[in-house]
Amino acid sequence: MSRAPIYVTRPVLPPFDDVLPLFQDIWNSRVLTNGGAMLQRFEAALASYLGVEHLVLTSNATLGLIISLRHYGITGEVITTPFSFVASSHAIGWAGATPVFADLTAGSPNLDPAAVEARITPETQAILAVHCYGIPCDTEALARIADRHGLRLIYDAAHAFGVRSNGRALAAEGDLSVLSFHATKVFNSVEGGAIIAPDRDTRMALERLGNFGIEDEVTVTETGLNAKLSELHAAMGLALLPRMDDLIAARGRVASRYARSLSQIAGLDCLCPSERPGHNSYAFPVLVGPDYPLSRDGLYEKLRTHDIFARRYFFPLISDLPMYRHLPSADPAGLPNARRMADSVLCLPLYPDLDPSDQDRIIAILADPGS
Ligand SMILES: *Cc1c(COP(=O)(O)O)cnc(C)c1O
Repeated sequence: MSRAPIYVTRPVLPPFDDVLPLFQDIWNSRVLTNGGAMLQRFEAALASYLGVEHLVLTSNATLGLIISLRHYGITGEVITTPFSFVASSHAIGWAGATPVFADLTAGSPNLDPAAVEARITPETQAILAVHCYGIPCDTEALARIADRHGLRLIYDAAHAFGVRSNGRALAAEGDLSVLSFHATKVFNSVEGGAIIAPDRDTRMALERLGNFGIEDEVTVTETGLNAKLSELHAAMGLALLPRMDDLIAARGRVASRYARSLSQIAGLDCLCPSERPGHNSYAFPVLVGPDYPLSRDGLYEKLRTHDIFARRYFFPLISDLPMYRHLPSADPAGLPNARRMADSVLCLPLYPDLDPSDQDRIIAILADPGS
């Protein structure tokens, strides 16, 4: 019996007919990049959708993080999470700073504020926290710590598109937040990203840093780099944006269906509260506990034999990778909660149009992995 493989996610695309007139506008204008009309339309539509005032579009989130750190002149230590996609730590290195890993709150995929505070030294300049799976960090506690110690607070909000927390856009927290519009995220422009800036001056400075440091035709003020989003990518984002409420609602329905079924299965725990208002259902991580008949890796392999490609996001921990494991803060003894999370988590396939019969197949295997 051969069935189409099911991957952990599947990019969403705008209807082809919605893209064509936007591409036609680009062809007519002969402007392909450098902040043209399409980028400006996308920027305005996105700011309005997210409920923020100042944002800078970037070609991806990684460059957004790098120029954000550079903007604040951060070259010392940056306290961050080992439980994330590698880009959050790689960006710290590319900005010229050093990542310092802190542990997670037990049972949560996010940084433990107390563990963050314990890692502060005279060299610490910033905290780079990740709203993992779109679950909000303890933003109040992190803000208090950042204030108390005079640190910058930057959020990698790559998973947090559209998430609202305490009645406001989660992406408006901290000194600034960086979103990713990579193909596999909740919202995409194929590749792309945005920095949510606190004010107009910061926004303009970030724009300049992402445009070679060019101020005007004859003035280059700093060694910037190229983080510009093209007009074609902007058109893709602009065409998809009106669909986002429906797409996020569809993700929520898939997540609720998993949550209902999994509540019947001993040894599997959902990490994301599926009924939380304002959540974006970016992913469906489950924790495979000792009561489950298979180990986490056993379940991962079992699903693979059925052509179901769940993913161990995030395993291994960033702090275990060869370019980081020599750091004192990478010592596993200091990161017990992160290790437990990385060793037990499995992200199940979740995308807005996941076929209910495919989801039933996945749930049936989870319920009876011996079959
Ligand atoms: C995807 C991702 C990134 C990188 O985003 P790009 O837009 O691909 O550069 C950074 N951090 C996290 C947590 C991510 O999941």
